[in-house]
This record gives sequence, structure tokens and C-alpha cells, in this order.
Amino acid sequence: MGGRVVVVGSFNVDHVWSAASLPLPGQTLSGAYRSGPGGKGFNQAIAAVRAGAETAFVCALGDDDGARLARTLAQADGLHLHALTAAAPTGTAGIFVDAEGRNSIVIGPGANAALGADCVSDASVWNEVAVTVTQLETPAEAALAAFAQARAHAALTLLNPAPANARVPQALWPLTDLATPNETEFAAQLAALGVEVDAAAVATLDDDTLHALCRRLLPHGTVVVTLGAAGVFVSHADPRRYADEAGAYRLAAAPVSAVDTTGAGDAFNGALAASLARVPARPLREHALFAVRYAGLSTERAGAAAAMPRADDVVARFG
Ligand code: ATP
Repeated sequence: MGGRVVVVGSFNVDHVWSAASLPLPGQTLSGAYRSGPGGKGFNQAIAAVRAGAETAFVCALGDDDGARLARTLAQADGLHLHALTAAAPTGTAGIFVDAEGRNSIVIGPGANAALGADCVSDASVWNEVAVTVTQLETPAEAALAAFAQARAHAALTLLNPAPANARVPQALWPLTDLATPNETEFAAQLAALGVEVDAAAVATLDDDTLHALCRRLLPHGTVVVTLGAAGVFVSHADPRRYADEAGAYRLAAAPVSAVDTTGAGDAFNGALAASLARVPARPLREHALFAVRYAGLSTERAGAAAAMPRADDVVARFG
């Protein structure tokens, strides 16, 4: 039932060291180590497939153990992997976490940096595409080419403008139907337009102000700002596309016992894309509510991709 999700983006092998404190320059610490899959693209693709949509993931990998990990995990979840093999090693992230959960991260993009416009040329990727998702951890050329293909196939385009320090190429906004920044990304992208907003205060702004800021960011499209434990703000401007009226509203976060919010944003994006692809005729409010619940459940388990629930888990918990 419904169409497919295509996610174009990053895959990283995350190397995570947990210690009492973050290492200072010149300091050597002892701590616990674990490694696992990561990258916003991969996390969102796993969320989309577990949320019930047939999903393709377009990425670039090296010729190494990281690539083999990506292939094994994609196969285990039934994710269609379309990976080009780059000369560089598979992307990595080195993550230090202290006892209070604060982190310091260095990303080695590696193969991710080789994802170019040609990554979307395989026609089989676009069969029955309904929703195309991308982020900014891979080159702008890949995002632009992906959304151009999506447009050519009449698919909805969902831009997660993350990480916050990456600039959205100007040419990408007109190709974007739906943008999903978190508070920091929202403030950063508005700043690029010359509009100053305190990221820490976004959730406290009144609805009219937030709606006007969303309209400024994406005048023709819909914006969903994710607000962590405060849920989401929806600025819906596309009544022809969804089965409900345009307007602005908040949805509270799901009542969950969060233990690790890493990847909650990725869970939200993947679930939103899956819902939009599977049952396009629904009101946007229902798609967003499903994604809020899905993202909330993902925080009850440690990790990012590994913590993604299944659509059935959402139904079992929230009805
Ligand atoms: P990350 O960068 O860790 O992937 P993010 O900053 O992009 O996350 P958030 O806004 O923190 O994204 O979270 C996305 C969504 O996940 C929220 O809108 C909310 O619905 C849900 N969520 C996040 N944290 C919590 C929480 N503590 N309790 C319940 N739901 C949460």
C-alpha cells in the first residue's frame, strides 16, 4: 500500500567513548567503548523502513568493514541500499560522552563527501517514490539532484536541515515541500536569512510569532519545528497536499520515559516520511502525531538506528 520513501544521505560508523569527563587538550582518559551505525541519512532510512514504508537509501561507502556493516544492517531490516563505492573510507564519527551525557564529536565524512549529483541516476531508486528525504551531512549536489528527481516523479520532498552548522543551498529551498529543523537548526537557517532568533528561546515564542518565522523560512511550504521534550510546532501551508486546513499548532511530546534522546530527530523524520508515503490522504496532523509518538518511543532505548521502534510498537503503546 502507498508509495516508497527514498532517503539520500550519510552513513557513519560511530565510535563512542564514555568517560567521567570530556578529555582536555593533552589529557588521556580511560573509559568504556562501543561502536555502531550512525549518520543522519542511515538513521532516518532505518526509521522509515521500521515505521512501515518500503524504503531505499542512497549513500556512499568505502570498501571496508564499515561498508560491510551498512550492507548487513540494511539487509536485516529490508532496506534497499543503493551505495556507490568511493575511494575514501566509510564515514566515521568519534564521539566522547561524559558522565552528564554531554558530548564532543569529530566527524570524518570520508566516503560521504563523494556523494554527488550522479548518486541519483539509478532509475530503479525512483520506482513508485512518494517521499524523498535528505539532510546536509552529504554534499549539496546530492540533495539538489535528489529533490530534482523527486519533483520529476511528483514525490513530496522533506528537508531535514541538519546539522545546524551546514548552510542550505539557496536553490534547495524552492524544491522543498516540508522542512523539519530542530530549534538550533531553525535559528541557524533564519540567521542565514538575516533574521536573529535565540535558539534556546524558540519553544517559548508564541504561536503567531513562530508561524510567521516559519513562513519566512519556507514561504511556499510546510515547516515542522521539533522542540525536544516540548514536542513539535507545525506551520502547515500546503492545504492542497494534505487532508486538513492550513494553520499553525503544537503537538505535545509523547508521554514516555526517555533514557537516550540521541537520534530522536532522525526517528521523527523517518516516521513522518513513512506515514506520508504509506497513507498520503491523511491530515498532516495525523502524520505528525504518529511521528511524535514514534520519536518518543525511540528515546526509551539507547542508541540511534538500533533504538528505532516499529510501527506496531507505536500502535501497541498509543493505540
Ligand atoms: P537529535 O539531534 O538527537 O536526533 P533533534 O534535536 O534533531 O534530535 P528533537 O527536537 O530533540 O530532535 O526531538 C525530535 C522529536 O523527538 C521531538 O519533537 C519529540 O517529539 C521527540 N522527543 C525528543 N525528546 C523527547 C523526550 N525527552 N520525551 C518525549 N519525546 C521526545
